Amino acid sequence: MSDASVAIITGAASGIGRALAVHYAGRGVRSIIGTFPGDPHDPEETLALVTDAGGQAVVHEVDVRSTASVDAFAQRAITEYGRLDYAVANAGILRNSPLSEMTDTRWTDMLDVDLTGVLRTLRAGAERMSAGGSMVAVSSIAGAVYGWEGHAHYAAAKAGVLGLIRSVAVELGPQGIRANAVIPGLIETPQSLDPVNSLGPDGLTRAGGDIPWGRVGTAAEVASVISFLTSADAGYVTGQSIIVDGGLTVK
Ligand code: NAD
Repeated sequence: MSDASVAIITGAASGIGRALAVHYAGRGVRSIIGTFPGDPHDPEETLALVTDAGGQAVVHEVDVRSTASVDAFAQRAITEYGRLDYAVANAGILRNSPLSEMTDTRWTDMLDVDLTGVLRTLRAGAERMSAGGSMVAVSSIAGAVYGWEGHAHYAAAKAGVLGLIRSVAVELGPQGIRANAVIPGLIETPQSLDPVNSLGPDGLTRAGGDIPWGRVGTAAEVASVISFLTSADAGYVTGQSIIVDGGLTVK
């Protein structure tokens, strides 16, 4: 069934965000594709994939470190399509930094994007939604159940996202707005393919062998869960987090 909803997606020039815009296109959901200035990935490629899938979207630059930028991004849904139904706080960075090298600046820079950026996105979304609205934040197994050396700041930010989601869900429930999180495991995207800050291509292949499902996940496999959580099919689900990891963390 076609869904005439409108979604904002941060970090949608690549990876999970791009896959979500394409997935939404197949459902009839129109997207505001958030693209970060300076991102090496071309948001026009996301837009072309959406169009090929028969969908509608527009590209809008957004930096989740700025409240004004995020507010303007959310407002674009109203000016472009006259409504906002779904807010997906997907943008994130990953930086390798052992504790001995964890300066205050590295710590706060990470939290500014991966935690406060989520708050800014959900807040801007909630201000423009009516009853039936829904939001999803992207956490990580590193913030939920998994220790990862060199990534204390990332883990803290992603754990913070889970607490934030629970409280927001309680607060917005009476307004008929839901809030949930997805917790991806190892997913092949530009972030995880980065050999400096993450596993890189070889590391991902090796790690995939240890996952019960026998491989790392795809961006589309996370996108479809985000899509479910935002949809009316999950209409009585709020304040929850779903791990999408091929069984990695239950092994
Ligand atoms: P990705 O690098 O393709 O996507 C991240 C996006 O965030 C990029 O498009 C980037 O431009 C954008 N971004 C970075 N800083 C930004 C800022 N200040 N403002 C706005 N946008 C900004 O990688 P991905 O794996 O698709 O990441 C999507 C989300 O999934 C992230 O939150 C990431 O932490 C999370 N995640 C990924 C994995 C994985 O294995 N790939 C696992 C767990 C969680």
